[in-house]
Formats: sequence, structure tokens, C-alpha cells
Amino acid sequence: MSQAAPKKVVYFDNNATTRIAPEVVQAMLPFLTELWGNPSSAYAFGAQVHGHVEKAREQVAALVAADPKEVVFTSCGTESNNTALHSALVMNPGKKHVITTAVEHSANMNFGDYLQRRGFDVTYLPVESDGSLDIHRLEKSIRPDTAIVSCMYANNETGVLFPIAEIAAICRSKGVLCHTDAVQVPGKLKIDVRELGVDFLSLSAHKLHAPKGIGMLYVKRRTKFQPYLIGGHQERGRRGGTENVANIVAFGRAAELAMATLHEENTRVRALRDRLEDTILAKIPNTVRNGNRNHRLPNTANIAFDFVEAEAILLLLDGLGICASSGSACTTGSLDPSHVLTAMGLPPMRARGSVRFSLGIYNTDQEVDYVLQHLPGVIQRLRDISPLNPEHPDNDRYDIDAAREKHEEDLAAARQSESLSA
Ligand SMILES: *Cc1c(COP(=O)(O)O)cnc(C)c1O
Repeated sequence: MSQAAPKKVVYFDNNATTRIAPEVVQAMLPFLTELWGNPSSAYAFGAQVHGHVEKAREQVAALVAADPKEVVFTSCGTESNNTALHSALVMNPGKKHVITTAVEHSANMNFGDYLQRRGFDVTYLPVESDGSLDIHRLEKSIRPDTAIVSCMYANNETGVLFPIAEIAAICRSKGVLCHTDAVQVPGKLKIDVRELGVDFLSLSAHKLHAPKGIGMLYVKRRTKFQPYLIGGHQERGRRGGTENVANIVAFGRAAELAMATLHEENTRVRALRDRLEDTILAKIPNTVRNGNRNHRLPNTANIAFDFVEAEAILLLLDGLGICASSGSACTTGSLDPSHVLTAMGLPPMRARGSVRFSLGIYNTDQEVDYVLQHLPGVIQRLRDISPLNPEHPDNDRYDIDAAREKHEEDLAAARQSESLSA
């Protein structure tokens, strides 16, 4: 069978994964061909590889302004997140409480559920209707038995940012460890672990134009640490397992590129995102931006298309070669609305009609034109056949103002009862 010509793809799903940069492929290739030795071996053929691993460690450390000794290579962002929480609990055996938020990546959400089943106490902090966090509430939820606070730096669904430096300062003043999942941040915002003041920080290379299956955990100097994978003495005894050399080298090169493209991401890519978002909101009726407009990543737009299902939109876009995603990153076809949008108080129908467009350095003006040319027709087609009737007088499921008010009242009531019981 002859192969069909590869269809051109408009890739607007850079928060899910990213194209491997050609420079990164070049950097890693020798380690898949000639330089396949084990970096822990004593003879020169293996040991020469060790130097390349350490160079990559320096490059990744520079990306977050850390000391190379503070960088632990892991298999992915998920492992980094799990390792940080696990270490904090094991090294503080008297402490049984973890604080995180209701909008974390499933790496944290489901690890928290696991911890609860194992007898730990987990607080999932609620968020405001624009996706932001109430810092005073976070401070009040810290208890004498709190081991660690873990809040993501940037939300993968909405791009909304949490004030990590402020959160870390609160943690320090209370003697509690602080972790941040910063997987979405490299290349989009500058990261400086000293300015942030965190004890742990997670990254994943496939979100910054390197391959899947390699991540890192920053572990601040002198932090008591328990490895999650117990084995050999790799990573200074902090993570067993033979180093994934080719991927580590790739991560190092990608870290350099991410710093070099920071400016472009905040100018050209931001402008593409803004044009896409502003035009959709202006041209397609009954659309709403999800998440705070100002405190967010420059590449992400999350938009609710009322009266239609996101899964249907994505299917039609897929037919046009356009890759985007629904709020819920996980199970395609699942009717569960995104936990992030739900935590922001969106009514279920609006959450189910929300689509995330996440752009990157390889996207072009022409691609934005292409999406803007086709999207209005896609939405119109779906609305024409939608059983949901927007004109219906008692259809109040879509009253976002009422839903937002209700969410804010609920939060206020919860605050009230907390302060009464405090
Ligand atoms: C992608 C992502 C992860 C998971 O990283 P993996 O390397 O795929 O395990 C964790 N947190 C956030 C915010 C992410 O976007």
C-alpha cells in the first residue's frame, strides 16, 4: 500500500506536548548511535558519556537559575511531582497533612487521592471564578502537621498563574516545605528558584520541545530528601536507574533554546494567541474566555462555546487538520467536565463546551488565519443541530453571571464558617 501524503497539521495543543526541535534531535542523535555507553562505567567509553550528562545538568540548572547539584533527572513531570510529595511525607513522619489546589494536573490530584486512601489528610484549595488562588485562605489552611504545600505555577488548561513566591514565603514563615509544578512555564516565563524561594520544582522536557519521558526535580540544597526510585547511586543517590542519556542531553539543549525563545514567546506568540482569542470572542456569539485575562501564560486561550459540546468541535477541527483540546486533558469522550473549569464554578454545560488552544514558537500567522476562517462555520453547524435551545426562556443553565455569583457566595460562606470554627 502506498502511504498517503502526510496531512498538514495545525498544531494548537502545545500544552499537551510539543514538537521536538530539530536542534534537539541533532544534539541527542550521537547518544542513540555511537555514544551508547553507561555513564557510570569506569572505562573511558562509558565515562565520556558522563560528561555530557553533567553538561546537560548545567544547562537545565541554568533554565531555573539553580545549582547543577540541585537538579535530579527523573522520567517525567508526574514522577517529579510524586517524588516531592512522597519525600516530604517520608522525611517528616509526624506530619500527615498535604495542601494542594483543586486545579492541579492529574499527577497531583490523583496522588493526593492515593495519599488520602493511605490515611493522609489532603486539602484541595478552591479557586476563584477567574481561576486565581486566595492566599489568605492558603495561609489559614496550614496546620502544625502540614508537611508540604504543592501549588502549580501555571495551569495547563487555562494558563492562569499562581503567585508562587508569595506562597513559598508563607510556607517558609511556617516551617512548611513548598513544591511547585512548573511544567508549563519554561520558555514562557523566566524561572528563578531563588527568587521563588521554593524547596522543590518540577519540569518535564516534552513541554519544551524535547522528547517525552524525561523530567527533572529541583531539590533545594540541604533539603532532607527521600528517593522515590530506590536503586543505584545515580543522581547522587537521589534517583536510582541508569540515566536516560539521550533524553537528558536533549533536555539540556532544549533548556538552552527555551531561554533563547522567551522573548519570542512573549511577543510574537502572545500576539498570535491574542488575535486568535480576541477574534473568536468578537466574531462568534456566546463565547467566553475562561480564566483571568492578565495573570496567565502568553500562549494559552481557553474559550467556552455555549450550546455545543467541545468533543464535537474537536472532531470537526480534527477533520480540518487542526489540533486543539478540551478542558479535560485526560479521557477523550468522557462526559465529565474538566475539574479545573468545574473548580472555577463554571456550569457543567459551559465547562463541557470549552476548548483550549495552546500555541508555540512553531505556529504562524497563516495558521491562526486558517483556524479563524473555519471555526465560525464549525460552531454554527453544531449550533444548528444542537438540541440545546439558547432562546428558551427558562434555560438558565447558561447564566454565567448567576453561576459566578453562586460560586463566590459559596466561597464566602465557606470562609465564614471556617473563621467561626477557627
Ligand atoms: C504535562 C504536565 C504534567 C505531566 O508531565 P509528564 O512528563 O507528562 O508526566 C504535569 N503537570 C503539568 C502542569 C503538565 O502540563
